[in-house]
Amino acid sequence: MSRPIIDLSDFPSNETAFRRRFPDEAACQDWLRKRRWPEGFKCDRCGGRKTYPIVTRNTLECKSCRHQTSLTANTPFHKTRKPLMDWMRAIYFLMQERRQGRKPSAFALAPVIDAAYGTANKWIKQLRPSMPDKL
Ligand SMILES: [Zn+2]
Repeated sequence: MSRPIIDLSDFPSNETAFRRRFPDEAACQDWLRKRRWPEGFKCDRCGGRKTYPIVTRNTLECKSCRHQTSLTANTPFHKTRKPLMDWMRAIYFLMQERRQGRKPSAFALAPVIDAAYGTANKWIKQLRPSMPDKL
């Protein structure tokens, strides 16, 4: 089974840009929403375009028919129980590591996301297909 890919071409490349782009969990969700629906969200059931965000569950609820859509389905963050902010920090960290010529290391990533080695290793596998090769 191939792993889902997320477009990271406009991901912040320095600390200041990163903090401006991802000040909180809602900002992370907004970023993910734009990656998944570049033309704007459209409800699978009724075609509605307006939603209530359910921030605590990474879910969007259609204002017309109340159908709920997962923000993380078919992305590397599928069914995650960790904040998206942690994932954004992981991506930022791994991209910086690549810029400096280092291979992704679960030992190095684990403290960044406050997780065990096994989790960090899993995250690297989830994110690797999305990472730019040339960095
Ligand atoms: Zn709907």
